[in-house]
Amino acid sequence: MFMLDRVFNPEGKSLTPMRGFKYSSWSPLGCDANGRCLLAALTMDNRLTIHANLNRLQWVQLVDLTELYGERLFEASYRLCKADAPCGELGDFPEFQRRHSMQTPVRMEWSGICTTQQVKHNNECRDVGSVLLAVLFENGNIAVWQFQLPFLGKESITSCNTIESGISSPSVLSWWEYEHNNRKMSGLIVGSAYGPVKIIPVNLKAVKGYFTLRQPVVLWQEMDQLPVHSIKCIPLYHPYQKCSCSLVVAARGPYVFWCLLLISKAGLNVHNSHVTGLHSLPIVSMTADKQNGTVYTCSTDGKVRQLIPIFTDVALKFEHQLIKLSEVFGCVRTHGIAVSPCGAYLAVITTEGMVNGLHPVNKNYQVQFVTLKTFEEAAAQLLESSVQNLFRQVDLTDLVRWKILKDKHIPQFLQEALDKKIESCGSTYFWRFKLFLLRILYQSMQKAPSEVTWRPSHEDAKILISDSPGMGSTEDDQEEGTSKQASKQSMGDTGKGVDIDDTAEDSLHQSSDAGGREPMVEKLLEIQAQIEAVEMHLTREHMKRVLGEVYLHTWITENTSIPTRGVCDFLMSDDGYDDRTARVLIGHILKKMNKQTFPEHCSLCKEILPFTDRKQAICSNGHIWLRCFLTYQSCQSLVYRRCLLHDSIARHPTPEDPEWIKRLLQGPCTFCDSPVF
Ligand SMILES: [Zn+2]
Ligand SMILES: [Zn+2]
Repeated sequence: MFMLDRVFNPEGKSLTPMRGFKYSSWSPLGCDANGRCLLAALTMDNRLTIHANLNRLQWVQLVDLTELYGERLFEASYRLCKADAPCGELGDFPEFQRRHSMQTPVRMEWSGICTTQQVKHNNECRDVGSVLLAVLFENGNIAVWQFQLPFLGKESITSCNTIESGISSPSVLSWWEYEHNNRKMSGLIVGSAYGPVKIIPVNLKAVKGYFTLRQPVVLWQEMDQLPVHSIKCIPLYHPYQKCSCSLVVAARGPYVFWCLLLISKAGLNVHNSHVTGLHSLPIVSMTADKQNGTVYTCSTDGKVRQLIPIFTDVALKFEHQLIKLSEVFGCVRTHGIAVSPCGAYLAVITTEGMVNGLHPVNKNYQVQFVTLKTFEEAAAQLLESSVQNLFRQVDLTDLVRWKILKDKHIPQFLQEALDKKIESCGSTYFWRFKLFLLRILYQSMQKAPSEVTWRPSHEDAKILISDSPGMGSTEDDQEEGTSKQASKQSMGDTGKGVDIDDTAEDSLHQSSDAGGREPMVEKLLEIQAQIEAVEMHLTREHMKRVLGEVYLHTWITENTSIPTRGVCDFLMSDDGYDDRTARVLIGHILKKMNKQTFPEHCSLCKEILPFTDRKQAICSNGHIWLRCFLTYQSCQSLVYRRCLLHDSIARHPTPEDPEWIKRLLQGPCTFCDSPVF
């Protein structure tokens, strides 16, 4: 047994090398230094590490948790729990096995972002964002790592606690997060290869407004030998019981086990059941749309089931339907599925299926994208969004983008609904949405696709992408609106690899030839003017915000390094712009500034830098500096940050910056909501 164990004998002599990943897990958005996701990866040789994508397509390993946990265990003499017997000799095989299973991770999952209180040296408390990573080990122990955000590396680790779940042969885990009357309840749902599913309490005193269960809750206790393969927990609102509830779903063999948890005055209510008749083979992957509770399961035979929860008086039931991938992709084997954050796409990993009753000699893994929503549904969801952030709904905007690129116009209903929203509420989100639509429309009208600002530097990566139909990366898509690499198929499309862009371009050439060049140029100029107007509105709104911050944080006449006077003059210079709040605010600020102007100076010639342009500053000697769109300061360092869409630039914070300027610099792009780095 020892000789065959690939962890202890990684060389393995004649055995095949252990490469690849056992499991990986994405953190919630907002965890790395740029406000994006971290990736926890568990390799086949049981090494658990955390990675960040800090530069485009450049992954960096930030921490090796296996090594750190090993050090902790060594320091504690491999006795983490008081009940542990005094440890034996490493030469004894049972002791060897015990130590092995207590540090072999099975799965790991991230919690949502929570707030913790940190006590500073002067006894002052401050709220810090943090995230938890739970790691389930072979012996049933769970290590809960707490990280301070943004996660930078080893120094961001706040604590690590080990919990005993007491579950034998544990196979999966998931966080249980429940919000009720502003009280957040948390726990860990653990499943076993023998069948049982249990919620384990997690006690973390440092986390604000955070509660847990008094004792473990058994969701399923039969040792029926149906291994729990995957667990998802979805927060929902019960329309009949009028309260929030948690839906826990677990894939057990070919069945889906579900459990509805409701907290009422009487205590915790648990309803559970199994959904059968879904698959004839065991479920290999399961994913859930957290917005509406729709669950997707798949078995290896290319069959995907969509399960829609329907609430009944007390609990719920599921309606399910089959999604036949063979109709879209031909005969395939499926290995995994994942639904995109807002439910616009289902990503499926496939390989070729059997041909003439024979399995293919080689396996080519492909990621296929299946659209789950129509353009109209995506547009409606974006209009009614509570997130109000385009970057966080990039899968929905992608569907809207394809539609506009293809049709070369913004559908009437969307334009009207958006104008209504803009009129009725002042949120800049709708202006940004409008800007997004106009930019895509502009792109769709251009004869040649706009110059590509960035391409992956690895040629191989590019070939991979263009090789597989129906594949595209978000970053690519955002920047290369007219890229030919990504072709996406909707459920209705039966043809394979329909290149939407090709057809779109052809029809453009035809229409421009028929209609002559002039009307097209005019149309482009008209859209350009609209884009500029929307950008100007968004700039003014952000200028107001910056001025508000300046006003709040200055008591005396003071040079804040933000060109306050310039911004005020810029806002007032346009006669067409009449905004009462802006005028009042500027009046207060000018009073405070007491006739001082505090102009910026060119670092090359020391001349004054006038504020005449929101995008750049030019001194009298012709030196041009770009302006930071977050603070409107001129960036004179030549090193600056850009948003993902490259529509604006921002400076880096410096140690001398006061806290409020640092906070302004942390903001997302004011035009497209994407992080700036
Ligand atoms: Zn100069
Ligand atoms: Zn941007």
